[in-house]
Amino acid sequence: MPNDDITPSRQQYLEIKRDYPNTILFFRLGDFYETFDEDAEITARELDIVLTSRPIGKGVRVPLAGIPYHAVENYLARLIEKGYHVAICEQVGDTPVKGLFPRKVVRVVTPGTVIEPGLLPGDSNNYLASVIQDEKTASVSYADITTGEFAVTELPLEALRAELTRLHPAEILIPDNQKLNDGFQGHFTSYPAWKFEPGKCEETLLTHFKSSTLEGFGIKGHNLSIRSAGVILQYLKETQPDSLTLLASLRSYSINEFMTLDASTRRNLELDETLRGERKGSLLGTLDHTVTPMGKRLMHQWISQPLLNVDRIKRRQEGVQHFFDNGMKRAEIRSALKPLADLERLVNRVMAGQAQPRDLVAMRDTLSRLPRIIEIAGDGTFLPRLTSANEELALLQSAIDDDPPSTLQNTGIIRAGYSQELDSVIDASKHARDWIANLESVEREKTGIKTLKVGYNKVFGYYIEISRGAADKAPENYIRKQTLVNAERFITPEMKEYETLVLNAEERIREIELRLFKEVCAVLSKSAFSLLKTARALAELDVLSALAETAALGGYTRPEVHEGSGLDIREGRHPVVEQSLRGERYIPNDVVFEKGEIVRVITGPNMSGKSTYLRQTALIVLMAQIGSFVPAESASIGLVDRIFTRIGAQDEIHAGQSTFMVEMIEAANILHHATSRSLLILDEIGRGTSTYDGLSIAWGMIEYIHNHPQLRAKTLFATHYHELTQLAELLPGVRNYNVAVSEADGKVVFLHKIIPGGADRSYGIHVAQLAGLPAPVIQRANEIMVELEKTSGRAVKIDPHAAQQALLFPESSPLLDELKAVDVNSLSPIEALNKLFEWQKKYTNK
Ligand code: ATP
Repeated sequence: MPNDDITPSRQQYLEIKRDYPNTILFFRLGDFYETFDEDAEITARELDIVLTSRPIGKGVRVPLAGIPYHAVENYLARLIEKGYHVAICEQVGDTPVKGLFPRKVVRVVTPGTVIEPGLLPGDSNNYLASVIQDEKTASVSYADITTGEFAVTELPLEALRAELTRLHPAEILIPDNQKLNDGFQGHFTSYPAWKFEPGKCEETLLTHFKSSTLEGFGIKGHNLSIRSAGVILQYLKETQPDSLTLLASLRSYSINEFMTLDASTRRNLELDETLRGERKGSLLGTLDHTVTPMGKRLMHQWISQPLLNVDRIKRRQEGVQHFFDNGMKRAEIRSALKPLADLERLVNRVMAGQAQPRDLVAMRDTLSRLPRIIEIAGDGTFLPRLTSANEELALLQSAIDDDPPSTLQNTGIIRAGYSQELDSVIDASKHARDWIANLESVEREKTGIKTLKVGYNKVFGYYIEISRGAADKAPENYIRKQTLVNAERFITPEMKEYETLVLNAEERIREIELRLFKEVCAVLSKSAFSLLKTARALAELDVLSALAETAALGGYTRPEVHEGSGLDIREGRHPVVEQSLRGERYIPNDVVFEKGEIVRVITGPNMSGKSTYLRQTALIVLMAQIGSFVPAESASIGLVDRIFTRIGAQDEIHAGQSTFMVEMIEAANILHHATSRSLLILDEIGRGTSTYDGLSIAWGMIEYIHNHPQLRAKTLFATHYHELTQLAELLPGVRNYNVAVSEADGKVVFLHKIIPGGADRSYGIHVAQLAGLPAPVIQRANEIMVELEKTSGRAVKIDPHAAQQALLFPESSPLLDELKAVDVNSLSPIEALNKLFEWQKKYTNK
């Protein structure tokens, strides 16, 4: 209902805003995106810009904050990062309706739907995910609208967190009547529950894929999958309709295709970032020698999803081997790939109508390099199929200028010779400009009037000016336009024609160029899927050659991966730690599980390398299953279905749960889900509670893993509880190992070598000393240790006063011994003084 008290523009705004209640509306007015009311208050506050006001009717003003349209990307990025959604409302059409340009929301920018290059992470995907769950099962769908990836899976509820951790979505859609109760942290968007309704979702999917059945997508009858995938399409239709064309297929996958890695294992193994959140120092940081943006994203995906299929692993290994064996070829392919632009995202921008002239230049440059890359790569069956894109390249070469302007607002985009129409307008305009430029001298000659001048003003445009004295000599075709005090001004019809040509040419050229540019984009869009395939093949080549490079630089070997159950790593190393040891040599270690061996109990001093050994074993297995070579002399690895880690007591206290509680929840998860194909990395289980509780729990766990017929998973168990070494005598599948220590001349050296047998000491006090704990504390700790050992570790009563006394009167010391040996009665005063002097010198360095 129109309200006469407010301006039509305000009415238009309110009507549009009604459809976007929880979204900041960027309302395009001229060169600005304006925000009003509460949106303006938020925008001004969050972006630190001025909040003003604008009249919207008689005596009424509303808050206003505006952003210049050319700087919108930067402001958008900041709002999206803070979790806001922004609707972009543009003017549509050039004809005002009742004095007002029609406007509509062209897209809604949310974390999962950004496409601006500056807002996207370059080396990882930007996923929009949706999750729907019932009592036991969940379905996750995800799409990356910048690369066209669209996939769906169903999985048990308890595996949901691990899958979301792997995907690390920028935004997750969930029904507004549901909550994820597993503590996953992310940007959640509540989406109306009715949109998850199966019938509606199925219809959306069928319409989108122009298909009559969902059978081909592998989700027919899978209600949860249909709902989560359908919602992604509905949401994109509302927010980013252009992106839908890129989602050409839906891949349904099973998490069983990939090694399961739960959230804490991903974190503990520092797969893509360290515990401190840095990429450097993570496995990805070490392995990733890719040189293209799409290669970087694929490397990230591979590391997050180790395979469970020996053939697929071998195929990747073949690819790595190909470039590993031939260093020259490797160097060539890497330098040929390096200059490539992000083809996946370029294709997307072309399809989404967002491409700028320089995007097409980047695409042209990238496509022109394909033949050389194909030539270098050769054609091993294990290498991705790569075909050159000759037609697309030819189009780009003929249509786009060598050095076009950066935006579509400027002319000079289209190459001369591509369009006759354009060329003739440009020619005509040039000709007209020349004609006008020459007009003065031509007319002077024609008329013989020396004072004749050609000028320009805004009112008449071009004119011929003749001084008053010579005005009667003006030829007949001159039309008088203006009389000045000293001169007359004329125009001629011909001159006006040229003038129109010049003045309109710029606008015409811009229009034609824009149209041609869009046409070129439309033609390229038709090839989008083959171009995306090319982009993916390039990404794969990049990753394979990068893994070969890593292997060559790090002295890695190709592991043998098989369906059996063995684990045999000779001279294995930790890929990350070995690089961080400046100057020091990394000591390699074997992990050879003998037949029947299930649990390896590893004792050893603090700081000796137990954790490193455990993690290196997990990382070598994981690397082998992504298809990489591994840091070892040799490795033979039976497929591992899951790696579980429980490492130390970390400060990741979930709301209302203590560190120990978290440790036990994770331990329970491991015991419930591990299989005989799993690899268990258990580091200091039980550390978070009292010695006896911890020891008992650890003991019970080892027995359970060892005895449970469905479990019997290969386990590396590092502990400080030396009592656990007794288990080796009781259970046939338990072996003891410890870290070698050399103790010569009172100096303790950790050799970082894992050897059979149990350790007898922890050297914790020694490490404390190295760490710089004050000497009295160390001394006192040593005494208490002696006491404890005397009582064989049973709870002893420690005299709290003993600490003070021990400092003053230690039970034994060289000085004390000498003092005891002196016969005071037989000393002369001078001898006594000499003795004192000697001791002072000897024991105090004075
Ligand atoms: P704690 O019981 O205190 O947790 P730990 O026995 O688990 O100690 P790690 O954390 O594995 O010890 O290793 C300590 C340090 O020793 C590492 O940071 C690394 O610098 C070095 N180190 C470990 N293993 C090796 C190795 N094989 N070769 C060389 N240096 C090593």
